[in-house]
Amino acid sequence: MASDVSLPEMLAATARQLYELGWMRGTSGNVSVIAQAEPLQLLVSASGIAKYSTQPEHAVATDAQGLALDGQKHMPSAEARVHAAIVDAAGAQAVVHVHAMSSVLAATRWPEGVVLAGVEQLKGLGCSAEGERYTVPVVANSQDMDHLSDRIRRALNPEMPVVLVADHGMYVWGSSLEDAANRTESADWLLQHVLLQELVTRA
Ligand SMILES: [Zn+2]
Repeated sequence: MASDVSLPEMLAATARQLYELGWMRGTSGNVSVIAQAEPLQLLVSASGIAKYSTQPEHAVATDAQGLALDGQKHMPSAEARVHAAIVDAAGAQAVVHVHAMSSVLAATRWPEGVVLAGVEQLKGLGCSAEGERYTVPVVANSQDMDHLSDRIRRALNPEMPVVLVADHGMYVWGSSLEDAANRTESADWLLQHVLLQELVTRA
């Protein structure tokens, strides 16, 4: 995307792009990006908006706890708290949360963590494709965003910009919205691959 595009425009375009890929059904999923480092301000997609219709006005400014700053026209996603925790713990610039089917199924199949190794697409997550094994952490779901944030903080793998939430979806982060979205595409490919690989080798 061109550098003269504003962050709210980029955030809305990213949400629509991820919706088109089928990972933000209904009003699910959310996207965030750092708007200001000190003190931290995070733009987070608004709660309750169908992602195909996300517009720049749906980028809600929040603080380092994911709470809306004064004067916002919309409520931030309920998961803004988790985005803020990942920004803090992983040093991310942008975070994507989707309910991709691959992430839910892989977390069910491998609740102790999903091992990835030896495929070219790992480079899309900043990993080596030479055969090293990487584990994507899996945490239990919670409706309490503080609990969920704590679980993700404790589970983070510094080599892996992805965490799966069982029975829910995944969080993926990167150095920009574009990077986080690209990594989400790679993560979905890799999770589909391990699931299908198991079917193929069982057959
Ligand atoms: Zn969710």
